[in-house]
Amino acid sequence: MEPASKYDVQTSMRTVVATTSRHVRADDLATCVACGLCLNDCPTYRLLGEEADSPRGRLQLIRALVDSDGPVPAGLAVHLDRCLVCRACETACPSGVPFGRIMEGAREELSERRPARGVAAWLRRYGLGTVASPRRLGIAARVTDLYARSPLAAAARLAPRALAWASSLAPRREGPPFRPTERADADVLLFAGCIMREAFGDTERATVAVLEADGRRVSAPVEQVCCGALHAHAGDGDGARRLARLNIDAFAGSEAPIVVNAAGCGAHLKAYGEVLRGDAAWAARAAAFASRVRDASEVVRPRRAGTGRPIRVVYQDACHLAHGQKVRDQPRALLRGIEGVTLVEIADAERCCGSAGIYNLTQPDIARELQRQKVACILAAHPDVVVSANPGCMLQIQAGLRAAGAAVPVVHLMRFLADPRAFG
Ligand code: SF4
Ligand code: SF4
Repeated sequence: MEPASKYDVQTSMRTVVATTSRHVRADDLATCVACGLCLNDCPTYRLLGEEADSPRGRLQLIRALVDSDGPVPAGLAVHLDRCLVCRACETACPSGVPFGRIMEGAREELSERRPARGVAAWLRRYGLGTVASPRRLGIAARVTDLYARSPLAAAARLAPRALAWASSLAPRREGPPFRPTERADADVLLFAGCIMREAFGDTERATVAVLEADGRRVSAPVEQVCCGALHAHAGDGDGARRLARLNIDAFAGSEAPIVVNAAGCGAHLKAYGEVLRGDAAWAARAAAFASRVRDASEVVRPRRAGTGRPIRVVYQDACHLAHGQKVRDQPRALLRGIEGVTLVEIADAERCCGSAGIYNLTQPDIARELQRQKVACILAAHPDVVVSANPGCMLQIQAGLRAAGAAVPVVHLMRFLADPRAFG
């Protein structure tokens, strides 16, 4: 794939920077020693072959950005926008560079110094406002569901490429939306998310059922809101911090673990201490909140029910679970524990599928190629079912399998655990 623009990045890297930024820390940037060991694990570097589209190149561009408060260097934003924030570079990096945190800070810096304009910027603001508003998101989810079930969606395959691509990713609702309800004697609190509760109601109910089958008493605070991960990734730091404060208040008054079933949300909730680090009034509460967050696979116990027949299962690592939370073994152990399941590993299991929040809408060419590669790896394993723990990955892989003519179901880990026979 040809890069859309070139940016000259010096490969003799500086590792010291006198940052003027409020959002990117000099000590974070200084952790990169420019060794290049991350390059081959970066999906965009592998596709585009440009230093500026590698972790090392992007860090160098971010140094240039925060070195001064002058005009933003021309062409720089293109390469930062192409980053998936998949954090595969964090796994590969021997120096512990906190790349996700650096990139989110750089995007906030960029959005302050060179506010985006035009239709795309308006659409992004509208989208972020929608996920943050339960009422607006409910309407959007209903409309999208009606569209996805209509003949229009099938006809959109023949539409111009960009429209057909966006249409292929439109989610159908899994049953009715999930409505949080509270109970006073809870020993687990469920973080229900925004899109999850609207579009993946059956997965939410399955998560509650699996926890209750373990003897847990589950409560879902009604005042909770979107986690803010999409806002942070898009450089809307104020929006991300506002949502974090609302959630900290919503989950206050309990020491119980906060369980989440969406990898992207979980990685961000676990980082609330960082998100509000600069806010003296909230920093300690944010760190305490973050310490309570667990992915559902870290909490639930192995099941006894079997599938009813032998099946091959591919577990798809969501980047924000594998790279962001270092949760790899727990979901696999749960799947291996189910009678009848043969867990099949795929090639390049930890490479991003191209979903990455709203990346598949903002960078469709790269997202489509990553989807194609992921689907090829999955199909080579001949699965009966694909299991994942992130809604974005599920939609991206479902669409890719459909495009490849493969009728392989893609299901959330919690739904599979709740009723393995349904997929056997
Ligand atoms: S976060 Fe992912 S896409 Fe971005 S630089 Fe790191 S490996 Fe590459
Ligand atoms: S592996 Fe780490 S230290 Fe080496 S270039 Fe990549 S980010 Fe920098």
